[in-house]
Parts: sequence; C-alpha cells; structure tokens
Amino acid sequence: MKPSSCNLCGGRDQHLMARLHGRDLLRCGGCGMRWYDPTPTKAELKSLYAAQEYVAAEYFSLEDDLQTNHYQHMLQAAETASRRFPGGSVLEIGPGVGHFLEFCSTRGLRVEAIEFSQPLAQAIREKFGCAVLEEPIEECGLPDGSFQVVAAFDLLEHVRDPMALLREIWRVLAPDGLLFLSTVSTDNVLDRVGMLLHRAGVSGPLAKLHPPYHLYYFNKLAIKRYIEQSGFAIEALVQENYDSRKATSSLPARLFLDGVYSLHNMSGDKTNFYVTCRKQAPS
Ligand SMILES: [Zn+2]
Repeated sequence: MKPSSCNLCGGRDQHLMARLHGRDLLRCGGCGMRWYDPTPTKAELKSLYAAQEYVAAEYFSLEDDLQTNHYQHMLQAAETASRRFPGGSVLEIGPGVGHFLEFCSTRGLRVEAIEFSQPLAQAIREKFGCAVLEEPIEECGLPDGSFQVVAAFDLLEHVRDPMALLREIWRVLAPDGLLFLSTVSTDNVLDRVGMLLHRAGVSGPLAKLHPPYHLYYFNKLAIKRYIEQSGFAIEALVQENYDSRKATSSLPARLFLDGVYSLHNMSGDKTNFYVTCRKQAPS
C-alpha cells in the first residue's frame, strides 16, 4: 500500500505510534505531525457528525461553558473583531451551538457559517436567520475577499486536509482580515504520560487523547508552519489547557488532570493552541 504523505511537510518518513479506534496513528519523522490513516471519507465524516451522540455531546452544553477559558477566548475574539471591523462580516466554520456567532451578532457584526453537521446547521439557521453552508469550505465556492473575519475554533484537527482549509480561508478573507483558530497540541505532559502508558500496555488514556474524529494533531512548530505556509502572519499564539470539567465527569480523573495541568503551568506547554492570524498579501 502507498504510504500517505504528511499534510504539512509532504514527507513520507512516517512511524506507526499506535493502532487506535481501528486506524493507524502515524507520526511524521520530518515535522512531528500526527494523523490517522486512512483518512475517513467525506461520507464517513458526514455520518459521524449527523449522529445524535455527537450532536448531544456534553461538549456542546451551554450551562457552565461560559466560565471556561475556551469561551473567554471566543468572547475576546468577538471583541477584537468588532473593534477592528465595526459592522464587518464574519464567517464561522464549525460553530457548534453558536456561542461565537452570538457574541459577534450582539456586537453588530454580520454572521454566516459553515457547519458540516446537518442537525447543528439547521439549528444555527433557525437561531440566527443566517446562511449556513454544509460542505467543506473548499467546495462552497465563496467569492475572494468576502469576509473580514473567519473563525475556526477547534476545527483544524477535524478536517481531511488542514492545509487546503487554511489556504481557502486565506482566499475568502479580505486583505488584513483576521482568522481566529484553536486546535489541540501534542507538546505537553499529558501527551507524554499517555504515550508512556501505551508503551506499558495501557492504551485507554492515549485513545482518549486521540479521539476518532480528531484526524490531525499539532505541535507548536507545526501549527506555526501551517499558519505561515498558508499566507498568514501570527498576531498572537497562546496555549491553554482543555478545561478539566469538560474533559471528564469523574472526580479522580479531574483531580489527576488538574495535577498535570499544574506541571503545564510551570512548563508553559499546554493542551490547546489559540491563534490570531492576519491575512498577508502574497510576497
Ligand atoms: Zn511532516
């Protein structure tokens, strides 16, 4: 079988890290990117995201989410967007239940969305009365430079081709437009503990850190290369831990996570990236 090449560096020097959820988790020897092989087809992803268990996941629940650092980042992004582009147009890809769209629309920004999950797309349409496309952005045919802001929170790890996605976002953004994105990071203690346990024969934690719908995993150097190779300048890159209340409902597991997070606070390497990117003119 022909080996798949790395989505970031094109390298074919790849190593099998583990077999999880029925797929191979590969690591690129060139840049450290990880991905699941084979990549699920578009039809497989459509069916995964239409499933009730995905739509009803705790992940999307509103109640205490507004207290998490994730939502604070969304709020700050909406404030930056409305300050930089008053009344401007915002496209969010993967809005989930629509917190960021709400933050934007209440600040006078015009909102549109792309949501791959049909039930979530319908709910967003009804809530905001806005256009919601349901295809990957590369297939939507959006005009050049049609948005001042694009948001892609927790999206990059879910798509079949992160580089194609970023290049298409660059194309649909106006000059100096902003992209707010977040994604997972593999540069942290939790990841190293998961790998050690896996080598010792305990694969559960590594499988939880690499869920089947996260197709790609980024380290700090890789996320920077992705952003710069797709034509953006990085305005800000911060690292945050995934909120332990959202990660697990088990108290002992949460205490364990909080312990690991205190190590993260010392090292500065955490579980997620939040990046503000600005569209640059081609050099
Ligand atoms: Zn690579």
